[in-house]
Amino acid sequence: MQDMENALYVVATPIGNLGDISLRALEILRGVDLVACEDTRHARHLLDHHGIKVPTLALHQHNENEAAEKLVRLLGEGKRIALVSDAGTPGVSDPGARTVAAVRAAGFRVIPLPGPNAAIAAMSAAGLADQRFLFAGFLPAKVGARRTAIQQLAGVDAALVFYEAPHRVMETVAELVELLGSTREIVIARELTKMFEQIARMPLAEAPAWFVADANHQRGEFVLIVSGPPPREGLDAECERVLIALLAELPVKQAAKLAAEITGQPKNALYARALALKDQDL
Ligand code: SAM
Repeated sequence: MQDMENALYVVATPIGNLGDISLRALEILRGVDLVACEDTRHARHLLDHHGIKVPTLALHQHNENEAAEKLVRLLGEGKRIALVSDAGTPGVSDPGARTVAAVRAAGFRVIPLPGPNAAIAAMSAAGLADQRFLFAGFLPAKVGARRTAIQQLAGVDAALVFYEAPHRVMETVAELVELLGSTREIVIARELTKMFEQIARMPLAEAPAWFVADANHQRGEFVLIVSGPPPREGLDAECERVLIALLAELPVKQAAKLAAEITGQPKNALYARALALKDQDL
């Protein structure tokens, strides 16, 4: 390609179905001098499928700094480079961020080519009423850190989107039920765009039984989306934030009184909520 800019092109690639690649992505992959990729065999499979014969360079979480330096050098020589990950959008729970930062810092252009992403695909088919969602990605592997992370997300007024590996999915779901409360809904999006794609929606409390009902339910790649917390009576998020901050320093009655003065909300409602928060140990 003659007029292609000397830049780093961040190219989203399929999350399962090889057909899910944009015309522009193919044009760029055909035109670049080099494709930096997480796993060269994996990338080669995609490139071969589309008859593209561009050289590849491994760039993964264990060599990203050195590989990024090399890319900056090559960009300095006028090369055009594409960055892909094994699946979906680079930089989203995948390597890419450090490379992009280094390339930008060196003064080169970074051009995103949007496309497949498991979280967005799952959201698009979830049908949840939430206006907002928070992409939480992978939770920590260690139990304590994972539970803390879930607890910190419990009060967020948005649907929560998680990535999870098959060997940990049941454990995580059990913790989501325990720590987020059973009244929320869950959407389990499994093997998106692949042969055994499955998107199931149910009350969060029913999810552990769903996984046990069929061993196939535990296989493959997962996005888990938990709907936002039920609306609180009378108190908005800002009011809740003020109350929690005051409760950390003051007894319930005083915290409720001060919160009422600061927010203009009724003292009784704040007092009731403060008692509930104290009971939950927040
Ligand atoms: N960069 C990717 C993206 O844009 O979605 C995410 C890469 S991350 C290393 C891999 C995780 O994404 C999987 O463990 C799974 O949680 C989720 N994922 C990727 N492909 C998926 C698919 N086809 N169906 C469901 N989840 C998928």
